[in-house]
Amino acid sequence: MPEQKRDYYEVLGVSKGASDDEIKKAYRKLAKKYHPDMNPGDKEAEAKFKEVNEAYSVLSDEQKRARYDQFGHAGVDPNYGAGGPGGPFGGFDMGDIDLGDIFGSFFGGGGFGGFGGGGARRNGPQKGESLRANLTITFEEAAFGCEKEINLNRTEECDACHGSGCQPGTTAETCPDCRGTGVVRVQQRTGGFAFSSTAACTRCRGTGKIIHSPCKSCGGSGSVKKSKRITVTIPAGIDDGQAVSLRGQGNAGKNGGPAGDLIVGVRVKPHPQFRRDGTTVLYEQPVSFFQAAMGAELEIPTIDGKVKYTLPAGTQTGTTFRLRGKGIPELRGRGRGDQYVTIRVQVPTSLNSEQKEALRVFAQAMGEEVPEESGLKGFFDKRKKKK
Ligand SMILES: [Zn+2]
Ligand SMILES: [Zn+2]
Repeated sequence: MPEQKRDYYEVLGVSKGASDDEIKKAYRKLAKKYHPDMNPGDKEAEAKFKEVNEAYSVLSDEQKRARYDQFGHAGVDPNYGAGGPGGPFGGFDMGDIDLGDIFGSFFGGGGFGGFGGGGARRNGPQKGESLRANLTITFEEAAFGCEKEINLNRTEECDACHGSGCQPGTTAETCPDCRGTGVVRVQQRTGGFAFSSTAACTRCRGTGKIIHSPCKSCGGSGSVKKSKRITVTIPAGIDDGQAVSLRGQGNAGKNGGPAGDLIVGVRVKPHPQFRRDGTTVLYEQPVSFFQAAMGAELEIPTIDGKVKYTLPAGTQTGTTFRLRGKGIPELRGRGRGDQYVTIRVQVPTSLNSEQKEALRVFAQAMGEEVPEESGLKGFFDKRKKKK
C-alpha cells in the first residue's frame, strides 16, 4: 500500500480556489527552498522537493486538477489506491515547469556550476575519471608477478536507476530549451556590437534532460560512491616506478560513457641481498681468503632458491661470474635475464693471538718479510717466557 499522501493544496500552501498564478508563485517559492542543490544531502528537503513538484504537476494542469478535485489522489496517480498500476493516467507530466526560471535567479546569467561559455556539447557520453593507487611489493613479487587487493573509493553507476538518475518507472524529459543538447546560444550586446556565444542551458543545467522524479538511491545524479576491493594482477618482471592500468575500474562515466581507468603505480621494496638492473640480478658473494685461495663449493642464493657453484682455486676478489637464466623474467616476454655474482674476499677485522700467529707463519712461508711490529714482538716475548 502506498503511504498516506498529503493534500496537494496543502503541500503548496494554497486554498482550493487558488488561481493558476497563485499556484505557480507558491510552487516556485517552495521549489527554491527545497531544491536538492540548495540542500545537499538533506533527505527531508529532497522528499519535500518531490512532493512539491508532484503537487504542482497536478495542480498546474487544468485537466489533472479537475480530476484531482473530483477523485483525490486516485484520480491522478495510477499507483495510488484502487487504480493500481496501469491505470488510465500516465506519470506526472511537468513539461511546463520552468526550472530555468528558478535557477536563473540564483546563479545569474553567467556560468552554471562550472560550465562557462564553452561551446562543447556538455551532455554527450563522457568517460569517467581515472583513479590512481599505489602498491608496494617485494623484489620477488615484482620478479614473478603477484595478485594484490587494494581498497578503492570510486563512483559507480547507481544500481537502482542504472545511471539515469530517474526514480525507477519514470523517465527524464528531453529539455525543451536546448532540445537535449545542454547548451544554448546567447546574444550579447556590448557597445553596439552583438555577440553570439553558447552557454550551458540553465533549465537543465547542461544535462539536456529534466528529471522530474529523481532516483531516491542517488538523488538524481545517476552515480553513487562505493568502497570496493579490487584485485590487481601484477605481471612478472615489473620494475620499481612502473604502473599497471586497469581499464574500466575508475569512476563511472556520464551519460552512458565508459568508466575511467585505475592506474596502479608500483613500488618495489629493496632486497637485502639482490639489486636489479632491468632483467639482470646483481649479487655479491662473500668468501673467505681460504675459500678464494683453495677453491670451494658455494651455495649461491638466487630468486629461485640456492644453486651450487664451484669456486675455482685462486679466485681474485672482484671476479664476476654469470648464472645464466637466473635473472628477472622479461615483462610480458618469455625470456629471463641472468644473475651476476661478484666475489668479495673478506679480510678479517679482528684476530685473536692464535690467528695472528698462523698468519705470520703463513706470510713467512710465502717468502714475505714479516715486519718487526711492537705488538707482535711483545706477543713472541710472552710465548718464550712461558716455555
Ligand atoms: Zn539512482
Ligand atoms: Zn536544457
